[in-house]
Amino acid sequence: MAEISDMITFLGTAGARFVVTRQFLASGGAWLNLGSTQILLDPGPGCLVQTAKRKLDPSKLEAIILSHRHLDHSGDINIMIEAMTEGGTKKRGIVFAPADAMNQDPVILSYLRPYLRTIEILKAGGSYVINDVSLRTPIKHKHPVETYGLIFQTPRHTFSWITDTRYFDDLANYYEGDLLIINVVRLDPGAPIDHLSLPEAKRIIEKIKPKIAILTHFGMTMWRAKTWELAERLTEETGISVIAARDGMRFDLARLK
Ligand SMILES: [Zn+2]
Repeated sequence: MAEISDMITFLGTAGARFVVTRQFLASGGAWLNLGSTQILLDPGPGCLVQTAKRKLDPSKLEAIILSHRHLDHSGDINIMIEAMTEGGTKKRGIVFAPADAMNQDPVILSYLRPYLRTIEILKAGGSYVINDVSLRTPIKHKHPVETYGLIFQTPRHTFSWITDTRYFDDLANYYEGDLLIINVVRLDPGAPIDHLSLPEAKRIIEKIKPKIAILTHFGMTMWRAKTWELAERLTEETGISVIAARDGMRFDLARLK
């Protein structure tokens, strides 16, 4: 068996409407292999197809985390619950989701819920445990629906994922870690302002000072501007290694050493 490691596989890097609906980029979320614990984050449209393509086995998942109920994050959550529970034949797995994903115009179908071992409702200041991985949702983001970013702590690494949000002043103060992943939908700040733009991401990276930052969840303006060139420029400007995620990219957190 290989050495114990923490690995993130990007099942998609698309954010917002057009890049998702036209599938210029995939939108399957991310698969986290944290030691022996496998977690799926934000299974957007195409997640099932992406997992099959990359030979990932949903019946091995411990948990599915939904940062918020928007379709580009939740599109495949029901089929992924079905896959995790082997069609409901095994009562297993945990789903973490904000209350409004469960209660109000729910994105998680009622008939699937008894298949799960537990459903945990995400809250601001929440802290949760999945095997030897701890998970925190420090603050409610500024986004049209209830949305949380995440801080993961494994026995080996701490990393944060700043999911969809409008920029606000102390946002960076809530997150920490050697690795920072940020959803950057827009190239420039401006309407619609419910998402982070590149200059805002830069400010956050400079404040948190991770060893490595990964940009993902790209809207049209980011995609057109060649995300890898933007990341290179940000690396030069901040002195922090910034990477633009690519569909299918596997990031081994051992690189943080
Ligand atoms: Zn959103």
